[in-house]
Amino acid sequence: MTGFGSTATIRRMAISIRGIPAFEDNYIWFIGASGSLRVAVVDPGDADPVIEALERDGLELSAILVTHLHGDHTGGIQDLVDRYPAPVYGPPDERITTIDHRVSEGDIIRLGEGLTLQVLDTPGHTCFHACYHGEGFLFSGDTLFTGGCGKLFEGTPQQMHASLEKIAALPDDTLVYCAHEYTLANLAFARIAEPDNPDIRNRQAEAQNLRDQGKPTVPSALGLERMTNPFLRYNNPNLKASAERFAGRPLTPGAEVFTVVRYWKDTLD
Ligand code: ZN
Ligand code: FE
Repeated sequence: MTGFGSTATIRRMAISIRGIPAFEDNYIWFIGASGSLRVAVVDPGDADPVIEALERDGLELSAILVTHLHGDHTGGIQDLVDRYPAPVYGPPDERITTIDHRVSEGDIIRLGEGLTLQVLDTPGHTCFHACYHGEGFLFSGDTLFTGGCGKLFEGTPQQMHASLEKIAALPDDTLVYCAHEYTLANLAFARIAEPDNPDIRNRQAEAQNLRDQGKPTVPSALGLERMTNPFLRYNNPNLKASAERFAGRPLTPGAEVFTVVRYWKDTLD
């Protein structure tokens, strides 16, 4: 029996998402309709753990989604498609030669069984980066991290700020599946940037507790990110005041605060 008003929950319940750890701190996400054996895989940087999981559970690879160029997100694609022919979706970055379906802002990817994801262009970490959202989920690659954001290897702070603005427009209950387990390090910086924010302190304790038990801290709800992630708080007066103390000059909320906070974290890494 499904009651009125429960559609969002029902819709989310119908999808199953599983994370496979890879390398030191990457997550490779499997997305499938619940009860289905067909799965799409996001950012398979390493083929071996993906093959192992597919074979062990008798799963069928329906698609590969790529967020960006870096080897820890793309390194396993060729081996996977050699074994299991499947479409490879990703941004129009010519350097990623394994992509055969180039997607950009607003494109819809139909994964079958009613499961669709929409593409957001989110440059900044790299000059091409795609995030995928739909069904209450966001696969954010190395753009938005839990408690942080990706480093600006190729893009400008203005680009990354604009990318994060797009993500910030999604609903609070969107679950953020990023590609790395970086939460504790990110929250350590968040504490420095906003020492008096109790939500950050609480989140840090919860994340530490999860890690102590060997559990992932990903996904997290976008609403929590808004409350605790300095890279989504560029309009917050307290963060702005901290950034101004660091910069030694007045700053405008938005891209300028974001730019200083990103630079500030880089000086500490
Ligand atoms: Zn990367
Ligand atoms: Fe990465």
